[in-house]
Amino acid sequence: MTTSPPVRPLFISFDGIDGAGKSTQRDLLTQWLTDAGHQVVLCRDPGTTEAGERIRDLLLHRKELELHPRTEMLLYMAARAQLVDDIVRPAIASGKTVLCDRYLLANIAYQGYASGIDPEDVRSVGKVTVDRVMPDLTILLDLPEDIAFPRLGKELDRMEAKGVAFMHRVREGFLKEASIYPHVATIDATQEIDAIQTAIRNAVTTRLKEMAK
Ligand code: ADP
Ligand code: MG
Repeated sequence: MTTSPPVRPLFISFDGIDGAGKSTQRDLLTQWLTDAGHQVVLCRDPGTTEAGERIRDLLLHRKELELHPRTEMLLYMAARAQLVDDIVRPAIASGKTVLCDRYLLANIAYQGYASGIDPEDVRSVGKVTVDRVMPDLTILLDLPEDIAFPRLGKELDRMEAKGVAFMHRVREGFLKEASIYPHVATIDATQEIDAIQTAIRNAVTTRLKEMAK
């Protein structure tokens, strides 16, 4: 890549089914943005704050605990409210670029489309939770669940353990949302890592140009 983006703060989230390559691509994008002069703050949702990490542990690793989809949704929202107030809003206010592994869109896909809560209800709760702090750009890494699933480790977390049919509904939900909301850029995540990264950098450059208008 020869083009570099103008330096202005950005809030970018990464989403997609488990094993799509979010962490891999986020780390590569961090490098590029840092080289271009951005001060990058990394976060993961749920998590990053102390309260958020404890909620994450409950949500993903305490599989002996039964959680209904609405309970799950509200726990994710609680973790996110803390993340917004402690990390994301202050970072943006001080001119930093925030790269977040997942955000509200994940709840809409997982607890909404895939678990049966009306996606509009998830969006309404989300509106209160994020308090107007929404990503400038969401990178949706899209690939079929049967390609993503074998990439997961042996120890599946609560969400991963829901299985391939569930992941299929999650993927469909993500794609539906991406077809409605222009800030969601869908990237073909079946490609090689470098090709995906190039597509992501192009999406970031395009968004920066739009924001400069
Ligand atoms: P996520 O954070 O979305 O769950 P990761 O970035 O952790 O995904 O990637 C999951 C696994 O798949 C890792 O072992 C990673 O090395 C591998 N992987 C990531 N991107 C690709 C790709 N484009 N092709 C093949 N394997 C990949
Ligand atoms: Mg990851």
